[in-house]
This record gives sequence, structure tokens and C-alpha cells, in this order.
Amino acid sequence: MDKTSPIIELRDISVRYGNGVLALDNITLDVNDQDLIGLIGPNGAGKSTLLSVILGLTKPTSGSVKLFGNGVLAKNLKYVGYVPQKAQAQDPNFPFTVFETVMLGRTARTGLLRRLGARDRQKVVEVLKLFGIYELKDRKIGQLSGGQSQRVFVAKAIVAEPKLLLLDEPTSGVDAVSKAEFYEMLERLNKEMRITMILSSHD
Ligand code: ADP
Repeated sequence: MDKTSPIIELRDISVRYGNGVLALDNITLDVNDQDLIGLIGPNGAGKSTLLSVILGLTKPTSGSVKLFGNGVLAKNLKYVGYVPQKAQAQDPNFPFTVFETVMLGRTARTGLLRRLGARDRQKVVEVLKLFGIYELKDRKIGQLSGGQSQRVFVAKAIVAEPKLLLLDEPTSGVDAVSKAEFYEMLERLNKEMRITMILSSHD
């Protein structure tokens, strides 16, 4: 892909679900390298569907999608991080610690077959510190506030070193102060780590 071509190219995308609902109607959108894009709209507007199309999970009824100048292929998806809606609303019995959860994100990069080593642990420590959650590393996920666990799930996506990060309603259920801090953190990631981002919100 040459440097100036868009990271994502959506052309005339429509999605009609089996129940007849037209979730997306002729969407055309380019996302360029290092963009930080907000998809804003009420519940049901089609935000999750759009992210799902970019991830190749939902096949458009019509239109075309390019990711890094190609189709939505596994080798491209390796560079895409995704934080699903309500990732932070974890089962309180979720057995992993913060450190272990973020470390799991590293397997997205290394594949399951390579053993995680010192370099992986170093990367996890670096990202935990960057996100201000290093001191929580030995806590179980179920013992965190909404704002804290949301950072953990973004950290988990970031340790895989994505070029593109998609976040579906990352601030739902989080208080206003945590929301403001969270958006600042995303801006820093976007600028300093040069990660292209799309986040959806109904605010
Ligand atoms: P948002 O993320 O903006 O809340 P969605 O993309 O989840 O919007 O939903 C868009 C529309 O598509 C809604 O009317 C929703 O009910 C419908 N929808 C979403 N997913 C499905 C599905 N798997 N099957 C049928 N309809 C769906």
C-alpha cells in the first residue's frame, strides 16, 4: 500500500439483515492514516454494523470494502485491534489479573504457538504504565471500576501493536470524568503511537 492511500475505503456499502432491517444505506467513507474518527449516532443507527463490516464479520449486501489497500483478509486483520462494546462489563468471577488479561492481547500478534517471553512482558509493562494502570496489574478484572477495566481492554488491544483500532461504544457506562480522561488517552495514542482510530458513541 502506498503511504497516501486510505487505510479503509468503503464504497456504497449497504447492509440489510435477514429480518429486513436496512442497517446501512449506501455508505461511502475513506479513513486515512492516523485519522481519529468518531461515529456518532443514536442506538440502532448502524455504528456496530459498520465496524463489523470493516472487520469482515458482516458481509455487505452491496458495495465494497478495502483495508490497507486490499480486501478484508486475515493478513490485514492482524493489524486491526478491536475493543467490543461493554468489554469492561466483565463477569466479576473472570479469573485473570490485569497483567494476564493484557498479556493475552499479545498472542494476537505472536500467534498462539510461540511462547510469550521477556520482550512480550516488557511491552505489557510499557503499555500498563502508559495507561496509568500498572499499579493495578495484580488485581482481578472483576475488582476494577468501569473506567479502569475499560483501560485494561484498550491496553489488551494495543499490546498487539495494531495500525488501526476500532472501539465500539468504549465509554458507555463510564462516568463523565473517566470519559474525559479516556478520550485524552485515545488522543495521545493516536498522536504518539500513530494509531488510526474509529470509535463509536451515542453521546
Ligand atoms: P448501533 O451500533 O448504532 O446501535 P447497530 O449496527 O447495532 O446500531 O444496529 C443497526 C440496526 O440493525 C438496528 O435496527 C438493529 O436492530 C439492527 N441489527 C443489528 N444487528 C442485527 C442482526 N444481527 N440481525 C438483525 N438486525 C440487526
